[in-house]
Amino acid sequence: MTILFSHPTCGFHNPGLGHPEKPERLEVVLNALNQPEFAGLKRRMAKPATAEQITRVHDAGHVLALLESVPKDGFTRVDADTVMSPASGDAALLAAGAAIAAVDAVMKGETANAFCAVRPPGHHAEPDRAMGFCLFNSVAVGAAHAEAVHGVKRIAIVDFDVHHGNGTQTMASGRANWLYASTHQYPYYPGTGSVRERGEYDNVVNAPLAARDGGAEFRAAYNEVIIPALDRFRPELLMLSAGFDGHFRDPLATLMLEEDDFAWVTEALMGVANRHCGGRIVSLLEGGYDLNALAASAAAHVRVLMAA
Ligand SMILES: [Zn+2]
Repeated sequence: MTILFSHPTCGFHNPGLGHPEKPERLEVVLNALNQPEFAGLKRRMAKPATAEQITRVHDAGHVLALLESVPKDGFTRVDADTVMSPASGDAALLAAGAAIAAVDAVMKGETANAFCAVRPPGHHAEPDRAMGFCLFNSVAVGAAHAEAVHGVKRIAIVDFDVHHGNGTQTMASGRANWLYASTHQYPYYPGTGSVRERGEYDNVVNAPLAARDGGAEFRAAYNEVIIPALDRFRPELLMLSAGFDGHFRDPLATLMLEEDDFAWVTEALMGVANRHCGGRIVSLLEGGYDLNALAASAAAHVRVLMAA
């Protein structure tokens, strides 16, 4: 069974007209998951993460300052491409809160896996800085919660967004019981993600892909690098930064992936979870900026998760 976590307020975060991380992204994902074939999804409303939960991975002063700078009306620019509207603080807390609720549901055995249809995305958010459309690092907030509350000892975070998850890598790097593994276009935004970045505990695995690489190179990176590393690590919980901007139709990058590649990687990662942790997977939406490609790719991902 799969539980879908979301919240309408995640659709009210608005970085401004013409910004690719637009409210319609959430709408098209939820519309796709409202089709009859997804009737078996159990749907739950996310609750906002607390300051205590956020500050497990973010600096307290930064969290306070960011929330205080949410505008009453209009916009607040926090980075060259990261903008907040009045609903952005609540949306970011709900995105992180969805990760926490999904971790709780999976760790309590209520479901094998869960998908969080949320925005803003999170994987670029550093401990002390919002960047790259991301305010709080939701997947890391979820991982820290799994560790602190459920006593999970080995947590793997796999990131197949087309961009490297620099923030998640920073947070995982100093934590010996986390493994961060990523495929991403390289060199590309945000500039990190070289194979030489291996984490303080040899717990970072970067498998960079070149512009124009497609399904064959993507699958080889998993088969040859990431899945063997996950099998050595033996996670007790697998978390996914599920970005679908590696799709060939995506306007922000130039990988050549198709829906079927996202279905394939989901199935391959479920194999890892089945071998090591009873199938426990918590997946969070990150990027994906072509609305049709995003909807179809997220649907392909969740279709496979539901077959657990
Ligand atoms: Zn991305």
